[in-house]
Amino acid sequence: MDRREFVKTAALTGAAALTGSPAAMAAQTPAANKTFVGIQIPVGPLAEPGGLDRVLDELQRVAHVNALFLHTSTYSADRAGVRATATFRGGNYATVHPQYYHDTVLKPEDTRAPEFPGFDALAVVVPAARKRGMKTFCWIIEDNSLPKVPNMDKLWETDLYGRPVTRHPGGPCFNNPNYTNYLLGLVEDQCRSYEVDGIMFGSERQGPLGSSLGAYHNGSRADPGATCCFCSFCEAKGRKQGIDFARVKQGYQALEKYVRAGRAGQRPVDGFYVAFWRILSEYPEVQAWERLWTSAQQETYAALHARVKAIRTGLQAGWHIWQNASWNPMYRAEQDFAAMAPFSDYVKPTLYNNCAGERMISYMESVGQNIHGDLTRAELLDFEYKVLNYNEAPLDKLAAAGFSADYVYRETKRTIDDLAGKSTLVWPGIDIDVPTAGGHSKCTPEGVRDAVLAAYKGGAQGVILSRNYTEMKPQNLRGAGIALEQLGLA
Ligand SMILES: [Zn+2]
Repeated sequence: MDRREFVKTAALTGAAALTGSPAAMAAQTPAANKTFVGIQIPVGPLAEPGGLDRVLDELQRVAHVNALFLHTSTYSADRAGVRATATFRGGNYATVHPQYYHDTVLKPEDTRAPEFPGFDALAVVVPAARKRGMKTFCWIIEDNSLPKVPNMDKLWETDLYGRPVTRHPGGPCFNNPNYTNYLLGLVEDQCRSYEVDGIMFGSERQGPLGSSLGAYHNGSRADPGATCCFCSFCEAKGRKQGIDFARVKQGYQALEKYVRAGRAGQRPVDGFYVAFWRILSEYPEVQAWERLWTSAQQETYAALHARVKAIRTGLQAGWHIWQNASWNPMYRAEQDFAAMAPFSDYVKPTLYNNCAGERMISYMESVGQNIHGDLTRAELLDFEYKVLNYNEAPLDKLAAAGFSADYVYRETKRTIDDLAGKSTLVWPGIDIDVPTAGGHSKCTPEGVRDAVLAAYKGGAQGVILSRNYTEMKPQNLRGAGIALEQLGLA
């Protein structure tokens, strides 16, 4: 008996004791009876000759994975699992069934990825995974850079001056039906055409207020005039809600001026914090527009959930939550798990602990030039730790130390507590070799093991090994497997 067979048999025996129903047990994967272990994975390595069996064998043997989060549609070479070349385009890696797409300027046929011609990722992967008792989820994370697809530009957000925002923090507009109808069609196509188990959707953006302030990691050089969205769809929706669009733009222009002055090192007469609140006080439309954006994001989640449930009630729909919620308190406030519960079968809070150190520093570099410009970085870090409930390394050691497993525990527990009394499951995203700069915190097998243990200590019902299989070193992936074995979940 090889190791994998041994693990399977051992798990089956344990499951039988738990359920007492051999029939129910036989229909399910052994590990699925105990916990949920997902992994984010691109099509590339599975499309290689012999790759499918080799990779699935490894995932089951090393880390007891029982669910694949497959990048079924992406315009990023990394997320497709191929080398980035000038000719790379990306798109839908399954067959496009045009009958499911309605009321969008995008031609569904134009969205088929040109890579792997003749290879339908879902047609190949879903049955192979199912045979092994593994689930398959369609993992759709938004692209921020404008893909090279005809008419795609008509989906994109526009800034304060009517210019398209074709890079992060811009993206397709949630108030633009050409986007939302395309997204609903994509999900319907993949859920109806294949025996998948659900979807995960992710949006790594925020509304115009956070974007204008550059309140996210890597935001310190973002153009505060290129904040979004101010397109005609947003304008029309705002008008219906009685929001004065001219006042919205005036408010955001005041904010733009404030952010530019801060970046130039000019302290407002009354200080950075007071000047910020004065803008909000003078222009409540600034916050109203931020709210319009966030509501549209959440309405899109709800629409995706409803669409998926209408196809098969057993399908699960859930959301990857951008890690900005780990340092930006405004974004954390907006991503309200309790409010999301009615349309969330599960949530994946993104808790990548190694890169969290450098990302927190990058976030502070940005807001440390505007709203928190009167604090030293060390004072700001202390403020962040207090308001976000962390106990992490001091500033001079933070990049090298990263965040600890305690962060994974605290954030998992917060999510679980927010969702108390709801049926929404919590599957934290675990950092396995998310890239960091030289000299900064790196993953180790022990670190991954401790992060997984911390997630379960916090009450998680499963984990999603992240962020991309192709980045993961086998020994670090093994750290997850060791934790699951220690917990008796594998
Ligand atoms: Zn818009």
